[in-house]
Amino acid sequence: MTTRRVRIPHYAIVKAPGLLCMLYTVSELSTLLRVPDRTLRDWLSMGAPHTRDARGHLWINGIEFATWIKSQRKPQRTRKLERNQAYCLRCNQVVEMIDPKVFRIKGKLVHVRGKCPVCGCTINRGDRLAESVSGITSANDQHLRAA
Ligand SMILES: [Zn+2]
Repeated sequence: MTTRRVRIPHYAIVKAPGLLCMLYTVSELSTLLRVPDRTLRDWLSMGAPHTRDARGHLWINGIEFATWIKSQRKPQRTRKLERNQAYCLRCNQVVEMIDPKVFRIKGKLVHVRGKCPVCGCTINRGDRLAESVSGITSANDQHLRAA
């Protein structure tokens, strides 16, 4: 998927949800969002919803535009940890756990427990199994049987 994202200034992101379900002209919208006309026209050419009337005037629906702005924002991405990595609260950093053990909780949810290689404290974290799991499952099952 190659969706081209536009970098939206913070002010416009904050203001866009306040737009009304009405048609705005480019200059009205540029004033409201404090975005230069030119930038706004760029966004329109990049896919921001708008209509062009018979005279060639551009009209932008506030709600549709706000929705588009929202869609341009990068999804919040939390750093994906490797199976054997976890965040040690004491060391305040991501570490590679020593002897990580995976416990299955429910469905794909698992619980990983290991030791911090730096401070030696026990680290717990939740995780989610990928579609295809091998290796981990057997170790986990042994654990469950032992428990
Ligand atoms: Zn630590």
